[in-house]
Amino acid sequence: MRFLAAFAALAFASAAQAAVPADWTTPQAPFRIVGNTYYVGTKDLAVYLITSPKGDVLIDGALVQTVPQIEKNIAALGFKLSDIKLILNTHAHYDHAAGIAQIKKDTGARFDASAADKPILETGSISFGPTKDVHYPPVKVDHVVKDGETVSAGDVHLTAHLTPGHTPGCTSWTWNETEGGKTYRVIDICSVSVAGNPLMNNKAYPGIVEDYRTSIAKLKAMHADVFLAPHAQFYDPQAKEAARKAGGPNPFIAPAALQTFMAKAEAAFDAELARQEAAAKH
Ligand SMILES: [Zn+2]
Repeated sequence: MRFLAAFAALAFASAAQAAVPADWTTPQAPFRIVGNTYYVGTKDLAVYLITSPKGDVLIDGALVQTVPQIEKNIAALGFKLSDIKLILNTHAHYDHAAGIAQIKKDTGARFDASAADKPILETGSISFGPTKDVHYPPVKVDHVVKDGETVSAGDVHLTAHLTPGHTPGCTSWTWNETEGGKTYRVIDICSVSVAGNPLMNNKAYPGIVEDYRTSIAKLKAMHADVFLAPHAQFYDPQAKEAARKAGGPNPFIAPAALQTFMAKAEAAFDAELARQEAAAKH
């Protein structure tokens, strides 16, 4: 009985206790990406702040234990937590959602998310995939966003693009930024990696393969001038920031980056699906 209780305690380890890659918690000095869009996350867990005179938006919340880093980064840029009026999420995995409950409390912001990720966010747990035993602080969804819906805070307007697969409610976000008199379309894609998700016989998410395929096709057909993602390792913003400091045009403005990324992501998906199909036959 005692052994069982100890085992259960392990299985229900909180997000804060889960062993995480060092890059997830390594501090990162914040920097501007384009226009009023800033990187305020950790070394690998991206968190984006988009500011306007009448209100700011934050996308993703990283981990419970990195909330102080994120809040310090926002202050270091000269922005106030209380100016954040809206928090959004790419997807309900704990490495992007565990810190949201605390940031919501600290800012008093509204939290908008998709219908399919809402139950995961509001229980702090997902029933399949590599993080199914990790529980994080639940966060109430104040407004459910639909595909193609534009949500606003102050002068910041972001459009939700449902791109399910990685999670059932995975949401990519687009918005416009102006720099040097030109307007640029920015995208923060939701992950399209398989990342340990079961693709075969996934009883919790039977349509997972079809959803991945639809989302990959949808993202491939989109246009973006600036490509952002929930993990820094997907596009190396640190190298781009270093290049910007060295002078020359803004390296974050790269209209081919989305398609380049998606071609690799699709090939990786095909390979992983083939691997899981072969494994399921044995
Ligand atoms: Zn994820």
